[in-house]
Amino acid sequence: MKTLHIFNTLSRTVEEFRPLYPPNVSLYSCGPTVYLPQHLGNLRAYLCWDFLRRTLEFDGYRVRHVMNVTDVGHLTGDDDVGEDKIEKTAKAEGKSPLEIANRYLELFNRDCHRLNIEPPTVESRATGHIGEMIELIERIIASGYAYVTRSGVYFDIVQYRGPKSLGRLSRQTLDEQYSAQRLEHSPDKRNPHDFVLWVLNQPEHIMQWDSPWGRGYPGWHIECSAMSMKYLGETIDIHTGGIDHIPIHHENEIAQSESATHKQFVRYFVHNAFLVGKEGMKISKSAGKFPLLADLPAAGFHPLAFRLFCFGAKYRSEIVFSDEAMHAAQTTLDYFFEFARNLPADAPVEAGEWTRAYVDKFGEALNDDLNTPRALAVARDLVAESYRSKDFGAWPALRMLDAVLGLDLEERHKAARTSAMPADIQALIEERAAVRQARNFARADELRKEIESRGYDVKDNRDGSAAYQRRSS
Ligand SMILES: [Zn+2]
Repeated sequence: MKTLHIFNTLSRTVEEFRPLYPPNVSLYSCGPTVYLPQHLGNLRAYLCWDFLRRTLEFDGYRVRHVMNVTDVGHLTGDDDVGEDKIEKTAKAEGKSPLEIANRYLELFNRDCHRLNIEPPTVESRATGHIGEMIELIERIIASGYAYVTRSGVYFDIVQYRGPKSLGRLSRQTLDEQYSAQRLEHSPDKRNPHDFVLWVLNQPEHIMQWDSPWGRGYPGWHIECSAMSMKYLGETIDIHTGGIDHIPIHHENEIAQSESATHKQFVRYFVHNAFLVGKEGMKISKSAGKFPLLADLPAAGFHPLAFRLFCFGAKYRSEIVFSDEAMHAAQTTLDYFFEFARNLPADAPVEAGEWTRAYVDKFGEALNDDLNTPRALAVARDLVAESYRSKDFGAWPALRMLDAVLGLDLEERHKAARTSAMPADIQALIEERAAVRQARNFARADELRKEIESRGYDVKDNRDGSAAYQRRSS
């Protein structure tokens, strides 16, 4: 197994990654709050974690990846202020919170699919885990670090951490951590920095559940602790999120988890930097208009060009989104697509001996704190060398690299070879590939029958691909 070196926000250094139970890796990512479409800035984070997960798999690890979906309790301020984001949109659109969450989750999953982001092993919704959150809050109360008031159950951060100590992740005092936040706080809190675990007595709130403290709903932070513990255990290997999560959300996750379990919650905290607009403006929900993945095709970009654009930058570097940069990514994408499409029919099945150095260098770059731009340069060099030497033994090697690049080059290659199919059959084949990827096997079966009834044999391969051939009569 190769050794990944990764920047751990806990130690502020690049560390050798050693999972607790190799070859298994537990990975938790803070997922979307589903009340608006996720813009390209949000999607960058999920791409970064896809590069990380695929790198670990490239190295031979088995990754169990859990991602939460926030469909209740995330207020318009990350601190305990404002309205519930889902309910705010629901009221504005005249829909139920469930309809809003379902719609935006579906949009998010569709975008992830277009970006070739591997679905998490478990996608867990906050509203499906209220019982686990209540249990965890009871443990925190029992440990003496939470208190019940009329307006809610609060975590006593000052008692837990001491009034002057620095946060383990942010390395800031409580005052510094919250300096960017509006500190409007309930008079029930012992300290303004205490955060809510369970909200009580909010009759306006639509989503409410019974709890030992009365009807109410969970705070935002508690969901991540409860769900990561449920699916990954009390200590997890890697926890990811955007750098904006460091000062509040992740500090609070650590405090509430460790106060309940008395164990280390996360061994490696890995954070990605933002995607910014041209003027250095953060492309974020608060900045108003921001590009969506769905906006890219009209501008002449394939969704995977955005994937490649992100792959071309280090996850810890802020990247500037611009037309020029996207054009460059599209050109590189076309370069790989062309190569996969135009391979000679007799291209070798085995990787050429000479390609081994490229595969090694690619892996070394990724294992060097996820140096994706260097890895991308190696993949380009491999293709360039293949053209130069007219040795297509590069193709099997490039397919190996594509396990991390995620450009579906095999599909391009196959599509070029089956493009002789009539358009109606080709359309059915593509639809079937999409529903199989979405694990809608019932629909895939219907499509199989349809294709067969039109005189074609269908063979599903174990690697998830399928072959279609005109039946000789
Ligand atoms: Zn989280």
